[in-house]
Order: sequence, then C-alpha cells, then structure tokens
Amino acid sequence: MAPEIYRLVLRPDEPIAFSPGQFFEIELAPSITRSYSVASEQGALELEFHIRAIAGGRASGLLTKEREPGDVVRVSGPFGSAIGADQATGPILAIAS
Ligand SMILES: Cc1cc2nc3c(=O)[nH]c(=O)nc-3n(C[C@H](O)[C@H](O)[C@H](O)COP(=O)(O)OP(=O)(O)OC[C@H]3O[C@@H](n4cnc5c(N)ncnc54)[C@H](O)[C@@H]3O)c2cc1C
Repeated sequence: MAPEIYRLVLRPDEPIAFSPGQFFEIELAPSITRSYSVASEQGALELEFHIRAIAGGRASGLLTKEREPGDVVRVSGPFGSAIGADQATGPILAIAS
C-alpha cells in the first residue's frame, strides 16, 4: 500500500456487522490491545485494517514482524458513532484534529 502502511485482514468466525467509520479493538498479544478503524466495505465478510508501522511501537512490531498468516487474534467491536447517516445524500465534510 505504502512503505509504512500494512494491510491486516481478519476473517471472523461469524459475520460482524459494522458501519464505515467505526473501529475495532484488536488484542495482538496479552495486554497489547489497540484500536483500528475498519477499512472494509460495509457488509464485507472480512475485516480489513490499514495500519501504520510506528518505529518502536509494540503493536506495530508485532504486526509487521511477529504475526503470520493464520494467526488467531481476539477482536471486539465495532465501536464508535462517527458514521454516515443512512439517508444522507449530500457531500461529506469530515473534520479531524
Ligand atoms: C479510534 C482509533 C482508531 C485508530 N485507527 C487506526 C488505524 O486505522 N490505523 C493505524 O495505524 N492506527 C490507528 N489507531 C492508532 C492505534 O490504535 C495505535 O495507537 C497505533 O497503531 C500505535 O500502536 P503501537 O502499539 O504500535 O505504539 P505504542 O507502543 O503504543 O507507542 C509507541 C510510541 O509511538 C508513539 N505513537 C503512537 N501512535 C503514533 C502515531 N500514530 N504516530 C506517531 N507516533 C505514535 C507513542 O506516543 C509512543 O511514543 C487508532 C486509534 C484509535 C483511538
């Protein structure tokens, strides 16, 4: 994707409903749980996340060096209410700080 951005794709045991804009908490190791915004399309069976590798970051290190395809992680969510209104048809203005 980009030199420091990794794609993490999780296949839940059963489908998880979510809305774009929400995030999940992923337990990458005991006591290492981080929040990540879901990047999958709504209704997708797999949960995709785009994660920036932070130098010295504990979760970043686990994801980029120690995790392998087929690993199992615990996920909770979705969380967050910053989602689009179902009936909205106008342009989207997103503000971040
Ligand atoms: C609601 C929510 C959604 C998020 N969604 C995403 C997402 O989609 N993708 C994503 O990559 N991250 C996302 N994050 C950030 C993510 O949860 C972690 O904080 C991030 O991956 C760093 O974790 P780490 O364990 O690698 O670093 P840590 O071990 O926690 O920190 C190591 C060092 O890096 C510094 N640091 C932490 N984060 C950053 C940063 N972003 N830039 C520069 N320095 C930093 C810390 O201050 C510390 O000094 C989200 C956070 C929240 C609260």
